[in-house]
Formats: sequence, C-alpha cells, structure tokens
Amino acid sequence: MRPFQFYRASNDTAAIDAAASGARFLAGGTTLVDLMREHVEQPTALVDISRLAHRRIEITPDGLEIGALARMSDVAADRAVAATYPVIAESLLAGASAQLRNMASIGGNLLQRTRCTYFRDPGSACNKREPRSGCPARDGAHRMHAIFGASQDCIATHASDLAVALVALDAILHVRGRAGDRSFLLADLYRLPGTTPHLEHTLGPDEMIVRVDVPAGEHTARSHYLKVRDRVSYEFALVSAAVALHVDGGVIRAARVAAGGVGTIPWRLSGAEDALVGEPVGERAWQAAADRAVEGAQPLTHNAFKVELLKRTVFRALAQVGGAE
Ligand code: SF4
Repeated sequence: MRPFQFYRASNDTAAIDAAASGARFLAGGTTLVDLMREHVEQPTALVDISRLAHRRIEITPDGLEIGALARMSDVAADRAVAATYPVIAESLLAGASAQLRNMASIGGNLLQRTRCTYFRDPGSACNKREPRSGCPARDGAHRMHAIFGASQDCIATHASDLAVALVALDAILHVRGRAGDRSFLLADLYRLPGTTPHLEHTLGPDEMIVRVDVPAGEHTARSHYLKVRDRVSYEFALVSAAVALHVDGGVIRAARVAAGGVGTIPWRLSGAEDALVGEPVGERAWQAAADRAVEGAQPLTHNAFKVELLKRTVFRALAQVGGAE
C-alpha cells in the first residue's frame, strides 16, 4: 500500500475541508482499504469521518431516517426497521458477512465499487480504473455482468444490495459540502457508464452523505428482498429483486420493484410496477410483472441466463409478499 496522509475529522466542516483539499472520506473502510491494498485506489490522503454524529436511526410519521454513518448491522438489527421496512433489513442481512456489517457504514455501502474482477486486477485493462484503457470483460468473462445500462466501455454491475431496496422505495439522499446542503433522489446519485465509466456518481469531491430518508407509505411493510447467488452466504448477487406492495381488498394499489445484479446501477423496473397496479393479487399478476421486468435487457454470451433468472426472481419475490387474497 502506498503511504498516505491521515486526518481524523472532529466535525463536518473539518471533514469537508479536508476532502476539498484532496483527501478521501474514510468511514468503515471495508471498500476503500481493500482497494488500496490491491493497488486499485491510491489516495494520497484520507479523512476519517467515522466519529461524526450521523448514526441516528429513527422512524417518524414521514418515514425512516438513517444516518449515513450508522453501521449496516445497526440498521439490520433495528426491530422497527425490520417490521416496517423489511426489504431494507433483508437487503442488509444479505449484503455482507457479519464482520463486514459491523464495520461498514450506510453511506459507504451506497458508494461501494463494482466486483468486476478486471477492475480489481491492476494487471488488466479497465476503463473504470484507467480511462480509455479498454474493457476486457465485454469479450472475456462476463457471467456476473450487467444486462441493463451497459455501454461499449463498461458492463460492470453495481454491487450494493441496500441501494436496490432504497431505490425501490424512492429514498432521498441528503449530502453536505462546501456549498451547503442538498437533497435528491438516491436514484439520481448513480451515473450510467456511457463513455466515462470511471465517473460513477453525482457527488462533488467535497460532498459527504449525511442521511438517507425513506418516505412512509402503505407499501413499505409488505416488502421483501430476494437475492439469488452462487452460494448461500457472503456472495454478490447473480440477480436480486426488491419488491413492495400495497394491497387493499385483494387488489394491488401501489407497487415498487427494483433489481440488483443485472444493472450497471440499481435498476428500477417500472414496467413491472405498471403491470401490477390495479390487478388482483395472484400468479397472473406476478407473471405479467416478471415478463415486463426483462424488457430492454441486452444480455451477452455468458450472462444470458440472467434474463430468465430475473423473471423467476421477480415472480418469487412478489409471490412471497403478495400471497393470494
Ligand atoms: Fe472495467 Fe467495467 Fe470493463 Fe469491468 S466491465 S473491465 S469494470 S470497464
């Protein structure tokens, strides 16, 4: 690992000033330190924000508020979150080992980087790690890669399970920087790779995530995160689905559906949502949503299986929460 300067921030202003001078934010370190060890990232300075006061987890009449420095394990273990927003707790429990959940922050989870093996191998070309060096995954090993949102320059999937659940629930991100505070939909944090896959999000270098809000709604309690992977624990998604339904009188009044493991960013499945709203609960509705879920998919040779797997995952997740009334 290359030598770097290290600061510990005692307040937000100090952290933001350090970042504006070139330091990278360090919270749990479960992504960044790994990448530094592997020589994928080589920051010259880090600013430790882990002791700042953004750890509160609270449910209000308006929804759920999660401090960006809350640990994954804290949120997953919160009984009120598990009862009112099960899709969030389940995505966290599916998201990493217990040791990692005890370290990793919510903000860091949302900004974690891809698991593409070429990206994590400094001996390989990779447009995301080194712009305009090439994308060996496109003609190489791409079984784990994206069927939505890819470009000629990058087909890597986004790795966060939590982000899929939060995008499905229209979560709002609050960020703080030198220019002040701003808030926007979490979905707008993520950039499609296009011709610049090294630019992954819309934050300025001095902007720090301070909180995530999840709006209240009658759909949140009837929600589920289903993750399909090569082995049962500590593995990234082949395909996942976050679903939430509001059902009244046996009819679906509101639906939220998003997928992971298939997109270069957390992928909202609005076609599947449209197929559900106004329909009676049951297998016909689940199948119609599953069929719409794969609209626009662009699989390659090794990841074509994800099209059928996504349909089955969406169907199963909806059947789990929807039942048949
Ligand atoms: Fe790099 Fe993206 Fe290609 Fe993977 S898919 S090698 S991350 S450019």
